[in-house]
Amino acid sequence: MAGTFVEPEQTPLALLLLGQQADPDSERGVDCPGDLPAPSDPDLVARALAAKQALGDRLFILGHHYQRDEVIQFADVTGDSFKLSQQAAARPEAEFIVFCGVHFMAESADILTSDDQKVILPDMAAGCSMADMAEISQVEDCWRTLERAGVADRTIPITYMNSSAAIKAFTGKHHGSVCTSSNAERSLTWAFEQGDKVLFLPDQHLGRNTAVRDLGLSLDDCVVYDPRKDNGGLSDSQIEDARVILWRGHCSVHGRFTAECVDDVRERVPGVTVIVHPECDYSVVAKADQVGSTEKIIAAIDNAPAGSKWAVGTELNLVKRLALNNPDKEIVYLDKTVCFCSTMNRIDLPHLVWALESLAAGHVVNQIDVDSETEHWAKVALDRMLALPGPTPGRD
Ligand code: SF4
Repeated sequence: MAGTFVEPEQTPLALLLLGQQADPDSERGVDCPGDLPAPSDPDLVARALAAKQALGDRLFILGHHYQRDEVIQFADVTGDSFKLSQQAAARPEAEFIVFCGVHFMAESADILTSDDQKVILPDMAAGCSMADMAEISQVEDCWRTLERAGVADRTIPITYMNSSAAIKAFTGKHHGSVCTSSNAERSLTWAFEQGDKVLFLPDQHLGRNTAVRDLGLSLDDCVVYDPRKDNGGLSDSQIEDARVILWRGHCSVHGRFTAECVDDVRERVPGVTVIVHPECDYSVVAKADQVGSTEKIIAAIDNAPAGSKWAVGTELNLVKRLALNNPDKEIVYLDKTVCFCSTMNRIDLPHLVWALESLAAGHVVNQIDVDSETEHWAKVALDRMLALPGPTPGRD
């Protein structure tokens, strides 16, 4: 008897097959709304240059450190997500900000730039698996759970830059702040001055690493809220006892590194210094020699003496570029198997050429436009971060 195919139940974050499905309920889709040039077109570089030249000062291209070389060569500035958004805000004369990065970064740039500036993401499918692990309706459910447990009024939400504008806005409304990987310690310290618990979104690893390594809390002070379980999988007494409630989210790239990778590279490369991003698991960070944001990793290696050896636990495009720019040092990827950020890699030369040529022809494509209410509250959360004491935050 022929079986009946049962459609799998769709969750709010159902995984879409790239190029075959689209999500009509979200801003993101996977189909390019125009004619993409063929990747084999030998004129792609010349076409990108010509379109960039035609747009002149009306255009400002931002390139995240994890972008491909074929794209980063056209960036007017490179950096982490926060630095890039700040750079966009500092260029009010640029009518078009083309963000070669992922969706949440383009949203932040739109929030921080003026209403006259248009932020373009060359491929709407360039999301972030971590940011997508926290959906606003789930976060609102979580808050109701904290209210029922009687702790919401003592809890300060802190959200990592790598989250949607809606979650940044939620954070702003609930007296919380955004943080980056370089100011997470200051953000958590500030939060504990405002309340006695923190809800940390959406990266459990950055939250745990900061709470335990930097603030001296114990692992037992942290609990993990799982949005797919009733009450987050926690009892009310676990919620009451916790100091930090970590959202169950992680980066699929940094989540690949394990403590065994660190042991293995120390055996393979005697004398190596292991440097990892704080989005890595606590067990990896505990074994590493240094921990830091992308900007800190770049600075540590650029300033290291010739002949030094480094194993780097972050995205591969950046590690490859570090190796290229530091030929006098030995630089290896921490994992034996390579791993790019697949969503970052969605921005390729054909999408960039298509976006630039469309703009040059007067067609605004793939604009990221955060609604004004969301923008207002997200900016409140971003401004709280900017007001934190200490050096200018940044560096995701
Ligand atoms: S490297 Fe991780 S956190 Fe960064 S954009 Fe990719 S999936 Fe998101």
